[in-house]
Amino acid sequence: MKKETPFGALEIWDAHTHFFSHIFFATLIKQSPTLSQDANAFVTAATITGWEMPSANSAEFAAKWISEFDRHNLAGAMMIASVPDDEASIAAAVQVFPERIVGAFFLDPTKPDAEARAVRAFDELKLKVVCLFPAMSHFSMAECEGVRAIVSAASTRPGTVVFVHCGALSVGVRKKLGLSSKFDLRFSNPLDIYKLAAEFPATNFIVPHFGAGFFRETLMLADLCPNVFLDTSSSNKWMNYAPTPTDLPTIFKQSINVVGTERLLFGTDSSFFPRGWVSKIFDEQIVALMEIGISAEQAQAIFGGNFKRLLHLN
Ligand SMILES: [Zn+2]
Repeated sequence: MKKETPFGALEIWDAHTHFFSHIFFATLIKQSPTLSQDANAFVTAATITGWEMPSANSAEFAAKWISEFDRHNLAGAMMIASVPDDEASIAAAVQVFPERIVGAFFLDPTKPDAEARAVRAFDELKLKVVCLFPAMSHFSMAECEGVRAIVSAASTRPGTVVFVHCGALSVGVRKKLGLSSKFDLRFSNPLDIYKLAAEFPATNFIVPHFGAGFFRETLMLADLCPNVFLDTSSSNKWMNYAPTPTDLPTIFKQSINVVGTERLLFGTDSSFFPRGWVSKIFDEQIVALMEIGISAEQAQAIFGGNFKRLLHLN
């Protein structure tokens, strides 16, 4: 499937979307002192957020996303099960749509069963991307033994990837539901990934949102480690933290100067309905890349080719 763009028809893969499953919301509801006492908690959560609650049947929910992808002519997406212990939801989605959905799962590597969970997710559930949130799970990428085991497991499984959220972290839905978020942003520096990325060159890493505020550090890391990829997702509000005013074309240009066009992965960070797939972010990135004048071939790489190569998709 291809999408018409100013670069011509491109096969688009979104490298960063969320699969906010029934279990995702059930988990957040349990964490809320009020919602956990509410007999109609899902209805209340829908009212508070203005979001549609997903079907409890993950295959059905996946079908909703696929019709959304069809509407926008997207080939497919990486979808992240975004709370711990939710591998089964995204695995069900991948099982029904293996050609369209690349499965990713949140993992807390400080838990004693983390390595076993990762191995099971890769080998049995056919998930390809393990997602680590050091600030959320309170660990250092450089020092946590559990992380080392997971990175090592990925190194022997071609086509798997370790995604590490760095930089500023705020989870919109947690805020909306009034949940406290005890994050520790000291663990958010992309340079913490360096040691493992250098030790395990066969493991590929994704740093989302250009490092979400640690742009310089992300470029340093990616320059030194050819196994580090950057995703371009979200509104990139972190640009507000840049030492001098900047914009998306400038960020793309500098990224391409340092890492080239082969390690940038287009993403949107789409996550809920009724908003669905955030085409505005796609449009902005197309405009930014037109402005800096990349070729159609380079555009195809950023908008899907790199992703397919990284994840070993056909
Ligand atoms: Zn995200």
